[in-house]
Amino acid sequence: MPKIRKVLVANRGEIAIRVMRTCKDLGIATVAVYSEADRSALHVRTADQAYLVGPPPSRESYLVQERILEVAKQSGADAIHPGYGFLSENASFVRACEKAGITFIGPPAAAMDAMGEKTRARANMIKAGVPVVPGTTEPIGTIEEAREYAQKIGFPIMLKAAGGGGGKGMRRVEGLGDFDSAWRSAKSEAMSSFGNDAVYIEKYLEKPHHVEIQVFADQYGNTIHLNERECSAQRRHQKVVEETPSPILTPELRAKMGEVAVKAAKAVNYVGAGTVEFLVDVHRNFYFLEMNTRLQVEHPVTEWVTGLDLVAMQIRAAEGEKLPLFEAPTPRGHAIEVRVYAEDPARNFMPSPGKIHALRVPSGPNVRDDSGVFAGFTVPNYYDPMISKLSVWGATREEAIARAKRALSEYVVKGITTNIRYLHGILSHPEFVGGDYDTSFLTRQHTELL
Ligand code: ADP
Repeated sequence: MPKIRKVLVANRGEIAIRVMRTCKDLGIATVAVYSEADRSALHVRTADQAYLVGPPPSRESYLVQERILEVAKQSGADAIHPGYGFLSENASFVRACEKAGITFIGPPAAAMDAMGEKTRARANMIKAGVPVVPGTTEPIGTIEEAREYAQKIGFPIMLKAAGGGGGKGMRRVEGLGDFDSAWRSAKSEAMSSFGNDAVYIEKYLEKPHHVEIQVFADQYGNTIHLNERECSAQRRHQKVVEETPSPILTPELRAKMGEVAVKAAKAVNYVGAGTVEFLVDVHRNFYFLEMNTRLQVEHPVTEWVTGLDLVAMQIRAAEGEKLPLFEAPTPRGHAIEVRVYAEDPARNFMPSPGKIHALRVPSGPNVRDDSGVFAGFTVPNYYDPMISKLSVWGATREEAIARAKRALSEYVVKGITTNIRYLHGILSHPEFVGGDYDTSFLTRQHTELL
């Protein structure tokens, strides 16, 4: 298979820059696409070439498949890296790339299809012998059927959008009393977020941990896992802090979950980087939640403790290279990532877009800042307000926490409000420091952390 010489990065912000950095390291040319709101964005300046693809709303720019493919052809790119979000999990885009003779740096469309809808993924996993969170494997037709099923598996239950993502279209239901309104709001949120109002039911697991396994496969079926990430520090079902190793995993549980994650990936003929997400209950039983068929936001913590460059591995796998290793490397030390957002924790985490007047980002030993912004840039209000990802490494968890706090205190961001103080508070909280914090942690400690 020919080597990739030019990559179009179909994304913006920190992830576009992160992908371009590896391309440059590998001697691969880069092409950026941007919307009218991103004319002066950092990813545009980072790329060798840049093309305007449309007006600010992503539906009219970053999500327009034909336009992105047109730019790929025009610029002579031989591959497209989708980053995360936008077109990264769109099987029809993968097929369109194939048809256009452009390499999509990611899994095949069929693997994406198999893991795309949560209900389909659950059915496929059950078939493969992977334990899933108890619940239905089909969207539920009527509210009567839904009520009946909920009573059968027992409250509390979780209504979830089959096409879900980003914590949207999800409602915890305590009992029949609040069932109808939860059903209606889950369905309407699913419709407005995903254009698909299909909803299914899962048993609500009390105080679980979100532990996910990074998997990686080449085109020849060689599949390995690269250990776990603990992502239980969540707000509105979205990750805020991630770390590896998970403080609650024993070597035995890690090996078992890794094995099951590899089985899940193999069952759908997965290729490239992917993440199998699990919920781990209080008895340390684990259940498949979903598979993300792309590079994750939190991949840097895995890179810290394995010494691997996951984007480089994605590119090599897309070129048809064989997997360079046969088993998970033993994690070295400890890594933590925090997501820095342009948002105001004191005002219910309202996004705080606007012009950044001054910016200083942390650095120093074992600190990595993946920023998508610079001083003078106006954070647009059209996209996800994450402006930076801070990740750090330490020989021990304690050292990593101290370093993350030190690095957070080095940020200077003038002009917009950020969640930096809030993140510092999380890292200092006894429950976080103790290590056994579950997905209810940030919600339970909400007022204390503000
Ligand atoms: P999304 O794709 O929208 O991110 P996920 O299915 O990955 O949704 O779930 C996101 C988070 O929501 C999980 O990490 C967990 O905290 C919570 N969650 C999801 N399903 C359940 C469940 N059945 N029981 C308890 N918590 C759940």
